Amino acid sequence: MSLNLKNFINSVEHRNACEPEFLQAVTEVVEDLIPYINEHRQDLIDLKILERMVEPERVISFRVAWLDDNNQIQVNRGYRVQMNSAIGPYKGGLRFAPDVNLSILKFLAFEQVFKNSLTGLPIGGGKGGSDFDPKGKSDNEIMRFCQSFMTELQRHIGAETDVPAGDIGVGTREVGYLFGQYKRLQNNFTGVLTGKGIHWGGSYIRPEATGYGLLYFVQCVLDYNSESIEGKTISISGAGNVAYYAAEKAIQLGAKVITLSNSQGTIYDPEGFTLERLQHLGSLGRDLKDYTSKYASSSFHAKQNPWQFPCDIALPCATQNEINAEDAKKLVEQGCKIVAEGANMPSTAEAIKIYLQAKINFGPGKAANAGGVAVSGLEMSQNAIGQQWSPEKVDHRLKLIMENIHKTCVRFGKEPNGYINYLKGANIGGFIKVAEAMKAQGV
Ligand code: GLU
Repeated sequence: MSLNLKNFINSVEHRNACEPEFLQAVTEVVEDLIPYINEHRQDLIDLKILERMVEPERVISFRVAWLDDNNQIQVNRGYRVQMNSAIGPYKGGLRFAPDVNLSILKFLAFEQVFKNSLTGLPIGGGKGGSDFDPKGKSDNEIMRFCQSFMTELQRHIGAETDVPAGDIGVGTREVGYLFGQYKRLQNNFTGVLTGKGIHWGGSYIRPEATGYGLLYFVQCVLDYNSESIEGKTISISGAGNVAYYAAEKAIQLGAKVITLSNSQGTIYDPEGFTLERLQHLGSLGRDLKDYTSKYASSSFHAKQNPWQFPCDIALPCATQNEINAEDAKKLVEQGCKIVAEGANMPSTAEAIKIYLQAKINFGPGKAANAGGVAVSGLEMSQNAIGQQWSPEKVDHRLKLIMENIHKTCVRFGKEPNGYINYLKGANIGGFIKVAEAMKAQGV
C-alpha cells in the first residue's frame, strides 16, 4: 500500500476549497513527505497520520466587538487554530492584519507544527489572530480591541493548553494588553502568553530571537560550505521586528546589509547600513523614505521589493508570497547563493522550484525563523520554574537550537550528489517526532 501524492492533494483541496495559502503550505510539505513515507514509513499509512495532520484538532472563530475613539461599535473576526498537540501544548503567534482569514491562519498553524517540532522543545502547533488592522489606531483603541479579543479567547487557552504569542501586528504592547485582560478574568498570573515584557514574565532575547536565530542559521549554512559571513552582501525585506534584528545581527557579524522595505517601498543603501544608520531607520516608523535625506548614498524605490538588487544572501522577512518566480529568477541570476526565510512562506511554490533547480541553499521559514518560537519555548520553561535567565544564557541556547535545526535539515535533506535540500530536511525532520507521538497516543 502506498500514498498517492496527486490524490492526497486533490482530497485536501476538495475539503478546503477557497483556502489557497493552506493548500500551498500542505502541498509544499507532502511533496517531500509522501515519497518518504512510501519508502521508509509504511507503518504510518494505515494510521492515517498525514490525513490527520492536515486537519486542525480544533478551529475557534469568534466575534470581536469593540468601541473606537468616536464611541462607534466596530466588529472584527477573531480566530484560534489549534492544529496539533501531539508533542506539547498548542503554541504559535497571533496575527492582527486586515488580510487575516482562515486560510492564512491554517497555513501558519500547519507550518508551526513542523517548526515547533524542529526546535526540539515540547511544543505543539497553533496560530490565531484577527482581521483587525492596527495601522492608524490609537493606543486606547488597540487596548480595547485586545481586551475584547481576549475576553473570548481566554476560555480556550492556558499555560498547559495553548500558549499564544505575537506575530505581524502583535508585539509587546499588544501582548501586554492581552495578558492584562487574561489575568483580570482568570485571576491567574501564568505563562499563558509569551513575548511578555521583561519585568512581567518575559524572556531576554525574545524580541531579537527570530532575527538573531535567522542569522545563526545562515552562519551554519555558510560554515557547512566552509564560508564566512564577513563581507557578504545581504538583502533584507521588511522593517518589523524580524527584519530589524536580522539586520542588526548581520551587521554585528560583519556582513553588508543593503536593503530594508515596507509596503511603501524599499530603501537601498549600497554602502550598507551601519548600526547607527539602522537605528535611525528604526526611528522613522513607516516613512523609510526620509532616510535618503540624511544619507546621500541611499535611494528609495517606491512600491518595489528589494529583489532587484544583487546580493549574496536574501532574507525575506516581510510576509507570505513576497518572492514570486520572477523575483527568484532575478536573485539566482544575479548570484544570490542563500535564501533564508525570516517570514513564514515568503516564497511562492514557483520561486522555491527555481531555488532548488539552481541548487542554491534555501532555508525555509519553518527551519530558518524557528528562533522566535524557540525562545518562546524557553520563556515557557522560565515561567514554569519561576526564574529569569540571563540574556547570555538565552542567546547561547538559541544558538544551540538553530545549530541543531541545521543538523536535522542536513541529516534528512542531503541528496546523493551532496546538495542539501533544507526544505525536504525540515519537512521530514519536523514530521517524524510528531508522527511518532501521534502513533503512540492512538486515535
Ligand atoms: N509568530 C512567530 C512564528 O511565526 C512566533 C510564535 C511564538 O513565539 O509562539 O513562529
